[in-house]
Amino acid sequence: MHEVIIIGSGPAGYTAGIYTGRAGLNPLLIASSVEAGGELMKTTEVENYPGFPTGLQGPELMDAFRAQAERFGTEVLLDDVVEVDLTGPVKIVKTGGGKTYEAKTVILATGAAYRELGLPREKELSGYGISWCATCDGFFFREKTIAVIGGGDSAMEEATFLTRFASKVYLIHRRDTFKASKIMQDRAMNNPKIEVIWNTEVSELLGEGKLTGIKTTNLVDGSTNTLDLDGLFIAIGNDPRVWLVENQLTLTPEKFIQVDGRSSKTSLPGVFAAGDVIDPTYRQAITAAGSGCVAALDAEHYLSNLK
Ligand code: NAP
Repeated sequence: MHEVIIIGSGPAGYTAGIYTGRAGLNPLLIASSVEAGGELMKTTEVENYPGFPTGLQGPELMDAFRAQAERFGTEVLLDDVVEVDLTGPVKIVKTGGGKTYEAKTVILATGAAYRELGLPREKELSGYGISWCATCDGFFFREKTIAVIGGGDSAMEEATFLTRFASKVYLIHRRDTFKASKIMQDRAMNNPKIEVIWNTEVSELLGEGKLTGIKTTNLVDGSTNTLDLDGLFIAIGNDPRVWLVENQLTLTPEKFIQVDGRSSKTSLPGVFAAGDVIDPTYRQAITAAGSGCVAALDAEHYLSNLK
C-alpha cells in the first residue's frame, strides 16, 4: 500500500510530490495519460513565476517541476484515474490502464477544465475552427481572421499571442469592462491587430463541418451581427474537475472541493485537496504550488498521527 497517492500533475500535484518525496513517503503521482503537466503545458511565456526573472515557457516550467519531484522519489504514472473510493481508511484508486492502487492518503490536485459556451455544435466544431488553446492551435491561423471570447487574463493572453499568426483578432466580451489584470488588458488594447467588441455574446456558430463565422448579439441594444471568421478561441474560464469525488466529498456551492480553512483537509480523513480544484479566486501557478505544499504537509502530519 502507498503512503500517498497524488492525483494530478499541475503545479499543485508536482509540488505535493516534491514535498512528500523529500519526506521519504515515496509518493505515486498519477499524471494523466494525455495531459500530464496540466494547464501550463498549453501556456506560452510564464512571466510571473518567482525565481525566473526573464520568464520561461509553461512546458519548460512543468518539466522542471516534474524533474524535481522525481529527484526525490516521486513515481510519475502516465495514466488516468477513472474511479476512487476515498471513504474508508484504505483509499482505492482505479486507473483507465486497468490497475487498482491502495493508499493511506490521497492528495487531489485535479485542477480545472475549460468552460464551454454551451452553443449547439460547439463540440462538433472543436478542432474545426473552434479551439480552447491558442498555443496548441494558433499556428494554423496564419494571416487569418479569428475571434477570442472572454474578458479575463486568459482571453487577453490568447488574443495577444494569436496576433503572432492572425491578421485580425476580434476580442469579444459580454460586458463593457474587462476582468483581466491591468497589465494584460493594456497589452491587448495596445495591439493594433486586436479590435475589442464590447457588450456582446456569441449567439450562433456558423459553418458546416468547419466554422466559417458567428452570429453575435449586442447585450445592450439587442442588435445582431454576423462576423466571418476562420477561427474562434474560447477563453471564458475553467470549472473545477470534481467528477471523480463529487459524491464522496463535500463541495462548496460553486462546486469546488471544500477544505477546512487554510488547510487542504477535505470532509474525509486522509483526503487532501490542492490547487485550482479548491480555489475559486487566485488560480495562479504560484498559489497552486503553495497549496500543493500545504497538502503535502497535511498528509505528512496525518500519516505521522496514524503511527
Ligand atoms: P476568468 O478570470 O474567470 O475570466 C473569465 C472571463 O470569461 C470573464 O471575463 C467572464 O465574463 C467571461 N465569461 C465567463 N463565462 C462566459 C460565457 N458563458 N460567455 C461569455 N463570457 C463568459 O478566467 P480566465 O481568464 O481563464 O482566468 C482564470 C484564472 O487564471 C484567473 O485567476 C487569471 O488571473 C489566471 N490567469 C493568469 C494569467 C497570467 O497572469 N498570465 C493568464 C491566464 C489566466 P465576466 O467578466 O462578465 O464575468
